[in-house]
Amino acid sequence: MNYKTSLSFRKETLVQLLNAIVIHEDEIIEALHDDFKKPAFEAVLTETNYVITELKDTIKNLSKWAKPQKVFPSILNFPSTDFIYKEPYGKVLIIAPWNYPFQLALCPMIAAVAAGNQVVVKPSELTPKTSAVIRKIIEKIFHINHVECIEGGLEVSQKLLAERWDYIFFTGSPSVGKIIAKAAAENLTPVTLELGGKNPCIIDETANLKLAAKRIVWGKFINAGQTCIAPDYILIQKDMKSHFIAYLKTEITKAYGENPALSPDFARIINTKNWLRLANLIEEEKVIFGGQTDIENNYIAPTLIEENDMESLLMQEEIFGPLLPILSYEKEEDIKTVISKFEKPLALYVFSENKRFSEKIITQYSFGGGCINDTVVHFSNKRLPFGGVGHSGIGAYHGRLSFDTFSHKKSIVKKANWLDIPLRYAPYNDKLKSIKKILKWM
Ligand code: NAD
Repeated sequence: MNYKTSLSFRKETLVQLLNAIVIHEDEIIEALHDDFKKPAFEAVLTETNYVITELKDTIKNLSKWAKPQKVFPSILNFPSTDFIYKEPYGKVLIIAPWNYPFQLALCPMIAAVAAGNQVVVKPSELTPKTSAVIRKIIEKIFHINHVECIEGGLEVSQKLLAERWDYIFFTGSPSVGKIIAKAAAENLTPVTLELGGKNPCIIDETANLKLAAKRIVWGKFINAGQTCIAPDYILIQKDMKSHFIAYLKTEITKAYGENPALSPDFARIINTKNWLRLANLIEEEKVIFGGQTDIENNYIAPTLIEENDMESLLMQEEIFGPLLPILSYEKEEDIKTVISKFEKPLALYVFSENKRFSEKIITQYSFGGGCINDTVVHFSNKRLPFGGVGHSGIGAYHGRLSFDTFSHKKSIVKKANWLDIPLRYAPYNDKLKSIKKILKWM
């Protein structure tokens, strides 16, 4: 069966997938809770509903996106009509991480199917309950030659990477991203790499500190800080620091209560390995709020850390957990010293009422994407490309761009035969003057 050819078949299966996700929504939410106590609210907002919205948008727009796109022809080719045809790549491999395990496996898969590809999805082995539901839904809707879900860890991933693919879409850490890129290079396979980084959150002296604290606490501690675009560290103007810390403390308590371990709204660390990694980053004497840990339950409280040492363990790699270091700067130039110590991040946030300052920050530094006066929410606009730059990733997706990501853009000139301008053909004789004139008009 050739799954690549029929647009109506793609639409039909996507509608079936939509119905299945709606039917299984409670099961997905429960699986996410079993895997790492993801709160139901966050599961709906960032996983099930996100995927449902993406699916509806894809089903609605698929015919339009797939249609050959007419572009303005070149005068050199007169008379012609020129088009971009969207062609599926063929066999696509999608490797997903554990932190948004449903959304980050399903959204690329939906786009790859919409674009007419055959797909293999490998969800993360660290969220086995969610991975099992993903597999169940995929097996229910798709023929195994069309979309297959292969569960497993490193060995399975390596086996899959040893095969030849027409496109690889990977979401995960920069270190594994390099392994993926190397494997893809063997066959010159195009890749999208959705990776991570150390995302700065800059706050100047004009910022609305109270609102900034609220928005940062939400963006940092949603999913217990295990979000690729969560603020990694705060860089605040020195004179504002103590005020801001007070606001942060208030907002954390407002959101998760006096004891966040009892809050149903605060997720857990994914496993003991990551818990140990994070616990090892906490230097007790630097903790100004939180700091409680419980290895039995993979719990680490929302924790504020006063950090002055760029050489500390905490400031070496992406934190990816509920630890928030707070650094300060005196002069604007100090910001550069901190940011340029790291590879280009996936996100950057700036809180300021000074438009000149925020504009300068967002244009001066290279990063995947971000917000002025908010955190994380740029992810939610399907019209904004989502992806990193440099070590935080290659390529971008979301909305229509996801469909384009999984489509080869084939350029076609449809030439008419009623006229054949002789200018381009040899012998060139004295045609140089005329061609120069034409080229000047273009
Ligand atoms: P990871 O790189 O450890 O694993 C991701 C996937 O790769 C998993 O399916 C895993 O089984 C597989 N894998 C692991 N090691 C492999 C290897 N050596 N060879 C082949 N496959 C391998 O990442 P993770 O811990 O699941 O997720 C956390 C990372 O992902 C963070 O760095 C985070 O910033 C990033 N992330 C990025 C985005 C984004 O959209 N840019 C989204 C979520 C997470």
